[in-house]
Amino acid sequence: MEEELRNVPFECRGCWHVWQEDYVVRHSEDDHGNQGEVWLSAGLRVPPPSSGAICPQCGCQQATMFPYGYLTRHPELIPPVGPIVPDATPLLSPVPKPLY
Ligand SMILES: [Zn+2]
Repeated sequence: MEEELRNVPFECRGCWHVWQEDYVVRHSEDDHGNQGEVWLSAGLRVPPPSSGAICPQCGCQQATMFPYGYLTRHPELIPPVGPIVPDATPLLSPVPKPLY
């Protein structure tokens, strides 16, 4: 029996929140040689993840699932950890002030 750790990335279609959930996938083979997969989350057996997961931020059920490993190729989608530091640069209008 083999166990594999998978982070499954999700994105909410309601608020565009992106998050990941960790699963353990247990690969097994029955007496007839059929491959089976058992998905575990926090040690409990769960159905395989699918679109329709519930967004932890807004609670809507319109989340879509990215392909496994998607976020490792798109790290910009991972929300930054910790408080967001405001940009200290003042917002200056590029439009020149009227001369009169
Ligand atoms: Zn949401």
